[in-house]
Amino acid sequence: MVTNDKFRDECGVVAIFAHPEAEKLAYLGLHALQHRGQESAGIVTSDGLTSRAHKAMGSVADIFTEEVLAKIGGTLAIGHTRYSTAGDSALLNAQPILVQSNKGSIAVAHNGNLVNATQIRGRLESQGSIFQTNSDTEVIVHLIALSKEHTLPEAMADALRRVEGAFSLVMMSNDRIFAVRDPRGFRPLAMGRIPALEGQKRDTMVFASETCAFDLIGAEYIRDVKPGELVIVSAEGISSRFYATSAPQSSCIFEHVYFSRPDSLVFGRSVQTSREELGRQLARETGVEADLVVPVPDSGVTAAVGYAAESGIPFRFALIRNHYVGRTFIEPSQSVRDFGVKLKLNAVRSLLQGKRVVLIDDSIVRGTTSRKIVRMIRNAGAKEVHMRISCPPTISPCYYGVDTPSRKQLIAANKSVEEIREYIGADSLAYLSLEGLKKACGEGDKISYCSACYTGKYPTDIVDVDEIQPATVRR
Ligand code: AMP
Repeated sequence: MVTNDKFRDECGVVAIFAHPEAEKLAYLGLHALQHRGQESAGIVTSDGLTSRAHKAMGSVADIFTEEVLAKIGGTLAIGHTRYSTAGDSALLNAQPILVQSNKGSIAVAHNGNLVNATQIRGRLESQGSIFQTNSDTEVIVHLIALSKEHTLPEAMADALRRVEGAFSLVMMSNDRIFAVRDPRGFRPLAMGRIPALEGQKRDTMVFASETCAFDLIGAEYIRDVKPGELVIVSAEGISSRFYATSAPQSSCIFEHVYFSRPDSLVFGRSVQTSREELGRQLARETGVEADLVVPVPDSGVTAAVGYAAESGIPFRFALIRNHYVGRTFIEPSQSVRDFGVKLKLNAVRSLLQGKRVVLIDDSIVRGTTSRKIVRMIRNAGAKEVHMRISCPPTISPCYYGVDTPSRKQLIAANKSVEEIREYIGADSLAYLSLEGLKKACGEGDKISYCSACYTGKYPTDIVDVDEIQPATVRR
């Protein structure tokens, strides 16, 4: 039996082999993956002999100036962008982690969360290991370093067989790149290629959490790293092995609902296709008489397009998002109701006056945002507000790398749909069914999903305790 780990990080990873400007490609890849984490970012490069790292708090564009990139120039690179949801978000925990071990230099960037990191760490510490961070990823590094296997790929495979949970990893030694997915394939990891430039001996191989990173650096998508696969890229070429016995695939359905960008292929499937179909299915299941379909930007936009197309109700951007909301702001001393949401969103009165509105968002977590937005739409003159959510009620926390708060704070774990409707102040509220969700996301022969956040049925053992530190939901 394993217990949950208290760190639940949302992250994006990228890897480049081999390119004269690997650090720049890694930077651009991270830039395209910025939505997967905005708190810290890092790149480790290698020139084939030595590794160099730069990590900092903040956004990718702010951290990686031209001077910084010039200092870490290399031909191999891995990068990471992170949003820590609980515990310490300090620079100490920023990734990639770079260590000098008995097996040479190893850098690791991790998307996902291990569910047995706490136990392994306890065991290793009792045997004398000293940990530098409180991130679960460091457990993997220790296990690789401590492995009795002699070659680095064998040591990695040995380490990976001991950890449980969600991990899409990119790793780097001085002269090789390694890309891994856990046996259930919780989190995505795609493999691509940039055709060789003139004078370059071979194509550049790239890996990224989402294919939107490939588009920016001119890479073509080849395939996903498969669940349970370890891909090794070296000067000799590409090799691949399966390090673990296979487990039923349980890829995260929330990647298609909310987390990934619609311009990405995730688990080999277009996120745009899934998200639009979520909206169509939602319209089929929960239709209502109305004058306008309005998305909560940006998270509800693509589903709302599908809902409007299927229902024939006109689509309007009646909530406008201010894209320049910083982290700090000055609030007037005479407190303004719903100030936080108003900083980010405002309603278009001329569209809403006297209208019956279908308001679409991807999810309700605590319910506080929806409540404020419904009030905003009413205050702008809407006659009726019908809230529609493009997934089922979120009733259980995620232990595999998505930021959800503890069960106590999940409104749908504690209230019925009717009680939630009352709380958010909508005239009606309806969610998509689980069957509808899976159908819209193409569940079948090619993909099968983890939907534990909607069912409470976890694909790995979890001691599901709620004393884990509640995460702060990022907006
Ligand atoms: P809440 O006020 O807690 O109900 O927040 C709901 C909003 O949070 C919705 O607009 C969602 O798009 C957004 N949301 C849901 N899950 C996440 C997540 N894991 N990270 C950031 N935002 C999220």
